[in-house]
Amino acid sequence: MQNFPLMINGEPVETPQHSEVINPATGLPFASCSQADVHVAQQAIGAAAQAFDSWSKLSHSQRQEYCHQIGAVIEANMPELMQLICQETGKPMGGLNGVGAGMEVGGSAFWAHFTADLELPVEVLQDDDSGRVELHRKPLGVVASITPWNWPLLIATWHVIPALLAGNTVVIKPSPYTPITTLRMVELANSVLPPGVLNAITGDGEVGNLLTSHPQIAKVIFTGSTPTGRKIMASASASLKRLTLELGGNDAGIVLPGTNLDSALPAIFGCCFHNNGQTCAALKRLYVHRSQYQAACDGMAAKARTIKVGNGLEEGTELGPVQNAAQLAIVESLVAAAKEEGGKVLCGGERLPGDGYFYAPTVVAGLSNGSRLVDEEPFGPVLPIVAYDSLEEVIELANDNDAGLGGSVWADDLDDAHALAGKLACGTVWINDHGAVQPNMPFGGVKQSGLGVEFGLEGLKEMTSCQSICIKP
Ligand code: NAD
Repeated sequence: MQNFPLMINGEPVETPQHSEVINPATGLPFASCSQADVHVAQQAIGAAAQAFDSWSKLSHSQRQEYCHQIGAVIEANMPELMQLICQETGKPMGGLNGVGAGMEVGGSAFWAHFTADLELPVEVLQDDDSGRVELHRKPLGVVASITPWNWPLLIATWHVIPALLAGNTVVIKPSPYTPITTLRMVELANSVLPPGVLNAITGDGEVGNLLTSHPQIAKVIFTGSTPTGRKIMASASASLKRLTLELGGNDAGIVLPGTNLDSALPAIFGCCFHNNGQTCAALKRLYVHRSQYQAACDGMAAKARTIKVGNGLEEGTELGPVQNAAQLAIVESLVAAAKEEGGKVLCGGERLPGDGYFYAPTVVAGLSNGSRLVDEEPFGPVLPIVAYDSLEEVIELANDNDAGLGGSVWADDLDDAHALAGKLACGTVWINDHGAVQPNMPFGGVKQSGLGVEFGLEGLKEMTSCQSICIKP
């Protein structure tokens, strides 16, 4: 079984302890990675701290060139990275609506190139007889990046490229469920970067906690669950680290009365079930006006029954397995609770045969807010559909959640949808779409879905601190 080393100071690092990485389509290990402990993590932080001085002194255009080169090595190694993603996450190479390993690798390269072109020039805030005020953006130092298992390469790219571009150096720690693609990407990136600029280690809470409390870490960018986000905030508070937290979502989608379901439902289906629902900003609760409720439930269930679930390496697979056994257990417990709470499982509602963590795409009707499946993020292939009677009621239902990542309004009349959009308490609202992110659009949650934003100039700013220079004439 191939072992993937850590990457510290430009060198692959083997450690005595290896962790096996499971392919969720088979339930069996397919590779292993070297295991970091806190001692090894210290070495990675030290390497990044040492590299900071020369990296931060490069010109912006030199760092842009390096970031483009990272995009280029991702592109050049697309087949290998796709295969690794497919094996460690279970997601198909192609996938439902083209959302799969190919999109993840292609999207990472695209994102790297787009972000590499961004710049935060010095702003002149005032220049008159009373003086000149300039706003400069400075790098922060060593950034710790901590990532989840659902989009391992894409989220790593989202963290690493803006951090490096702004002049920081990085230590990245991927999820123990999906470390391989990140280790390989960092190895590839190190073929073009100076040593120590980008380091990768592995581990879980203990190593993560070292990163979030270490005095030499200036900033933590974290994508993952809300409970872990709370721990990170507490741990980072002692040294007042800068934080970007992209946390859990429980996004509502609202179908306005009279919407043409023939066109809306297939699109909504993709927004709920792509990547098996394991996307932070997937549509996770669907609200449909009572006049169209039955038709929407029937349509979504009919579509769910046609979906090809299987090993992501097989041609034509639309959805792979749930990524890990613990997540599968959460999905099963939420569906069991839904049944107890009077929900009607219209399709799916059970594991599929085989050794992998396969679960049938599931649609549940008859629930409302207050039931666990509606209130909690399932992060799996399960969608509750809830009936509503008035627009006032549905806004209240949609906003009645601690999460506030995204939301959507589906309607034939765009003005009607737009009028409702601003009433949703979330970071992004899509109209006739849900979950589509792009590198020029700030993305982040409100309420307990996070702190700060990623992407575009706003995201890049979060990798810097402001320095105002005031000149008296
Ligand atoms: P998780 O919180 O369990 O783990 C995420 C990462 O945190 C892993 O690398 C893990 O090893 C690390 N970690 C665990 N304990 C830690 C600690 N004490 N200190 C520091 N690091 C620690 O999340 P997950 O199960 O991997 O991911 C699923 C969750 O991520 C879902 O809730 C999903 O909504 C969320 N997510 C959010 C976004 C977003 O942009 N808002 C994107 C993707 C996923």
